[in-house]
Amino acid sequence: MKNAALLKDLANCASPETLLAAILRHYPQLSAPIDVEAIARSAGITEFHDLDAQGAASALMADIAKTQGIISTAAGISAPRRRFAIAHQLGHFLIKAQRGDRHCTARDLAENRRDTPRRKEEMQANRFAAGLLMPKPLFARFVTDLGKPTVTHLPTIAAAYGVTLEAAVSRYADLTQTTCAFVFIKDGTIRFTRPSRSFPALCVRSGDTAPEAVGAAGADDGTAWASADVRDWLTIARDVRQPKLAFQTLRKANGFQLVMLFVDAAAERRADEEAEKQANERPRFGR
Ligand SMILES: [Zn+2]
Repeated sequence: MKNAALLKDLANCASPETLLAAILRHYPQLSAPIDVEAIARSAGITEFHDLDAQGAASALMADIAKTQGIISTAAGISAPRRRFAIAHQLGHFLIKAQRGDRHCTARDLAENRRDTPRRKEEMQANRFAAGLLMPKPLFARFVTDLGKPTVTHLPTIAAAYGVTLEAAVSRYADLTQTTCAFVFIKDGTIRFTRPSRSFPALCVRSGDTAPEAVGAAGADDGTAWASADVRDWLTIARDVRQPKLAFQTLRKANGFQLVMLFVDAAAERRADEEAEKQANERPRFGR
């Protein structure tokens, strides 16, 4: 059912973030998993269809003024992917500057670049989708309640929010206050990386062979923190003390591995202060 008050509010919003803030104002009691279809209906989506077109993962059909729309998703995709596709198309529908007829591929639904107008629109729709399915205040509280960071929290978060592991990891990396990074590996090859904002520069890229230590992590001890060789993962800057790096590996079926890298930022700050103190106490020679 359309929600007239919500629609009036949404009409004044231009960015994914202002749209999300308006939705949260109207639905302050949202809980995980977010009922994305109900929200889409309240915002003007009238029907949800299966799509059998090859190549497109999801589509939106709307009138020119985008007062109402129909969202289609590929038949047979998993529930988390379908939920993300609906949220993504709702983003295209609600972001005013974007056209209302879209055919989006699986690649579009993972786009995070903004170097062309098309990619920027896809990235904005994804930002909207992540923010709708994992609202910041709710998500932050959930993560805090889970306690000390560990890689096994990620599947828990994905299940609670009805999203893919990739979507949960991306949102976690975006919102966490900790210094961590995630590396997705398939059959020993790195597929992609998701560092948090404060994480030092990674030296591994998609397509690279995963460091040997990952393969060596046994199935039993895989989810215990182990100390990582900084040279395996980070771009080494000369004359800079390297942080202590720890890692955990979560093994999934089909040769998938999720590695979580972690830097204890507080311990690093203390170590930096100590190093500085020692440098200042050292007797000085020369001039
Ligand atoms: Zn799209």
